[in-house]
Amino acid sequence: MLLNDKVAIITGAASERGIGRATAACFAHHGARVVVLDLDEAAAQRNALALGSGHLGLAANVTDAEAIQRAVAQVMNEYGRIDVLVNNAGITQPVKTLEIAAEDYNRILDVNLRGTLLMSQAVIPVMQRQGGGSIVCLSSVSAQRGGGIFGGPHYSAAKAGVLGLTKAMAREFGPDQIRVNALTPGLIQTDITGGLLHDERRHAIIDSIPLGRLGAADDVAHAALFLASDLSSYLTGITLDVNGGMLI
Ligand code: NAD
Repeated sequence: MLLNDKVAIITGAASERGIGRATAACFAHHGARVVVLDLDEAAAQRNALALGSGHLGLAANVTDAEAIQRAVAQVMNEYGRIDVLVNNAGITQPVKTLEIAAEDYNRILDVNLRGTLLMSQAVIPVMQRQGGGSIVCLSSVSAQRGGGIFGGPHYSAAKAGVLGLTKAMAREFGPDQIRVNALTPGLIQTDITGGLLHDERRHAIIDSIPLGRLGAADDVAHAALFLASDLSSYLTGITLDVNGGMLI
């Protein structure tokens, strides 16, 4: 069991069929005690319960520093340690540059980028005291190819920011044995993408992917497991593309 007795917080893990939910199930399967953290408490608790016993569902908005501190305090109260953080909570908006309103720019940057910073700021001191940990940050292929599939330019910018933040934190906290790595998924079938693709566009996209299919949430979950576990013990600051070869 790759994550035996590790405590892992996964943000945005309460969606019906998202990457966070798949990652929670994968981590639980590999022995972790999982904290499902999301906006809606009932949904978070429901997903935590679905993982079996010994897991926790908590409500916190990743843009709310106080709510995050309360959630981290609850996790410490319950388990006494935090080994893994997956910064998965994210939102997108399919608009073009000239259509981006100031409040939408702020909203997209806030959840995707500042949320990643705030969660990391809350968890890193715990990991420092413990002598190490692993943080996995969800970026996107949109950061690498300038969007164009389902995210707007502000989403691409936020996810590119996540890559910079990941590398900066990896450099800063390497001496504390805290590894920080990023995932850049391609097009994964989840709630975030479900409503945004017509059949014709979908086929065109699939034709452009060497592996000939959209990604599954489990494809990303397995990559997250690798980065969270000791299998990747000498990797920090890397970007792992989970995109079926989309960028070749
Ligand atoms: P999803 O919409 O299925 O799940 C996102 C979850 O984040 C939801 O449960 C939502 O409630 C939660 N959330 C949103 N705002 C929050 C906030 N402020 N605080 C706490 N939780 C919040 O999304 P998904 O498709 O599973 O995507 C997961 C991550 O992967 C996101 O960061 C996304 O940008 C990234 N990603 C997804 C794809 C894809 O194709 N689906 C591709 C590349 C990157």
